[in-house]
Amino acid sequence: MRLLKTIRIAITNCVLVLFGIAAGEAGETEGREGKGAGEKASNAAGNKNEKSAPKTSKKETAKPEINVTDEAINAYEKDFQDLADYRKRKKMPEAGSENDDSTAAKLIIGDNEYYGKNAGQTKADVIEELIVNPQTATHAEGDVFYQAKTKKDGVNSTKATIILDRYPCKSCGINGGIRGMAKQLGITDLTIVTPSRVVKFNPQIKPKPNPFM
Ligand SMILES: [Zn+2]
Repeated sequence: MRLLKTIRIAITNCVLVLFGIAAGEAGETEGREGKGAGEKASNAAGNKNEKSAPKTSKKETAKPEINVTDEAINAYEKDFQDLADYRKRKKMPEAGSENDDSTAAKLIIGDNEYYGKNAGQTKADVIEELIVNPQTATHAEGDVFYQAKTKKDGVNSTKATIILDRYPCKSCGINGGIRGMAKQLGITDLTIVTPSRVVKFNPQIKPKPNPFM
């Protein structure tokens, strides 16, 4: 009996040892696989980065049309007159006069026309409708795009012209406030008329060089 028991213990130990080796090997294999999977994952991430990297560098830009001639600006004489009349109605000082410190804007989209001025809308209202910087939201530019966005069928064309009787501030111009709002409204052909230049570009594509620099 004792011998049998000893043999049984020996067999059990042997099995345990074998099992231990097997388990160890499995662990090692798993470890290797694990490492392999990790490598695969990091390679995939690497590839992803490789793929997305050119996208960033290839970011589409387009050259804007910039015209600073009197001829180009005078072509919008009627619109500037409309803005002068709007100022009178709103009891605003004449554009460019000593007391003038604001902008009047006229936005034309299809057969819609919108007139706006600084603080024409509340900042909160504009920011609720459009993704735009807080300065532009309180400026004449934000006012007219807000009106277009909130009017039923207010944007019935992909072509828009905005006439400003004062050169746009940094937030609206150089930093792209006007472009961003036009882009959100689906405009693909935008003309921005200021007292000193007429700028044309597709707001869906970043204009380069910056048309307001
Ligand atoms: Zn502005």
